[in-house]
Amino acid sequence: MSHDHNMPDGFSVREGSLFCEAVSADSLAQRFATPLYVYSQTAITDAFAEWTEAFGGAEHLICFAVKANSNIAILKLLASLGSGFDIVSGGELRRVLAAGGDAGKVVFSGVGKSAAEIELALTAGIRCFNVESASELALIERIARNLNKVAPISIRLNPDVDAKTHPYISTGLKENKFGVDAEVARALYRTAHESDVLLPVGIDCHIGSQLTEIEPFIDSVKHLKNLVLDLRSSGIELQHIDIGGGLGIRYRDEEVPSAKVLITSVRDQLDDLSMELMIEPGRSIVGNAGALLTRVMVIKEGETKDFAVVDAAMNDLLRPALYSAWQTIIETAPSSVQTRVYDVVGPVCETGDFLGKDRELGITEGDLLAVLGAGAYSFTMSSNYNSRPRAAEILVSGTDAHVIRKRERVEDLWADECLPEHIGSQAHDD
Ligand SMILES: *Cc1c(COP(=O)(O)O)cnc(C)c1O
Repeated sequence: MSHDHNMPDGFSVREGSLFCEAVSADSLAQRFATPLYVYSQTAITDAFAEWTEAFGGAEHLICFAVKANSNIAILKLLASLGSGFDIVSGGELRRVLAAGGDAGKVVFSGVGKSAAEIELALTAGIRCFNVESASELALIERIARNLNKVAPISIRLNPDVDAKTHPYISTGLKENKFGVDAEVARALYRTAHESDVLLPVGIDCHIGSQLTEIEPFIDSVKHLKNLVLDLRSSGIELQHIDIGGGLGIRYRDEEVPSAKVLITSVRDQLDDLSMELMIEPGRSIVGNAGALLTRVMVIKEGETKDFAVVDAAMNDLLRPALYSAWQTIIETAPSSVQTRVYDVVGPVCETGDFLGKDRELGITEGDLLAVLGAGAYSFTMSSNYNSRPRAAEILVSGTDAHVIRKRERVEDLWADECLPEHIGSQAHDD
């Protein structure tokens, strides 16, 4: 190992070799091949416990944001710890139910819920719809009436605060597509209050992701509180305040406030309301619990740059290409090779296909690398671009390594494609 690394929970370097809990990265790659997603069960459990402890005795519900990592084994693990879930599609609800999660702890976010998704959620009996527009509220009302059900709703407030994060993952500004402003929210609560099939139960917001400061959270919490008090004075009593997700993690050298510090400052603002607190963390629970293992296939020395071509690509891990996200890349075993500076790139035919740029590594062809911080928005954003089967996923617990998703087979990729008979049925007559 050529550098000192601040290793994420669940991972450690022993005599130069990377371990996930008690299992070496090399043995995992030998056994399951690469590219390979590896998660530490303990790291996930510990991160969830940190959130739970942050609330002290306060009444709360932690709703894990399923889009960060939706593997049903991980959802089952979180459900067993008492987690609820924040979903953004009917597919995610189906995953939660397949994992044995409790529909009564599910909140449904997202700007475009279809009639079929709303029906599914009402039938399953979710905790609450986080409503983002007047049209959505009208659609939920119509479907609830048809199904003879009462729909619990929360309105997503867009507090117009700057989360100071990457523009693609900032969601709480006026110009973003998410939520409604306070005036529209008031009107929607009024509509819901007057409807016999809509039940206003809460208020929510979510201002962005990978936030590294407390202030934007507190700003938005103040806006939520003002609206809650305003609604109270007009006879609309809500039961919960959902402050969304978004707490960042350390990918490199970010200084991120702890869950405890965040929740303590939130409670300073909200405790006098005596409402249940809800939060929707994704990245902060799973982000640092995962790594992507990949093997160096080709070392290519260019005129101005050296490239390490690895067997994982942007289809496996999109964050570097999509957000210019920086993730630590390390050798998984001691190396005597002279270090050089490489761009670590995949085999996909795109210049944007890189996992890391300008990385100092001591490697030769065949060596194994680990991309850290790959537990959130990593496998879930993977695709089959370039007809690449998606990687396998492994959950490590102590000395045990469990396959929680098999590597896709190439034949799977066209299993749902069809060959219409009219193609190629006519003889060429030229
Ligand atoms: C993505 C998302 C989250 C989770 O965000 P993290 O940054 O992963 O904590 C929570 N709530 C909503 C509505 C989201 O869209």
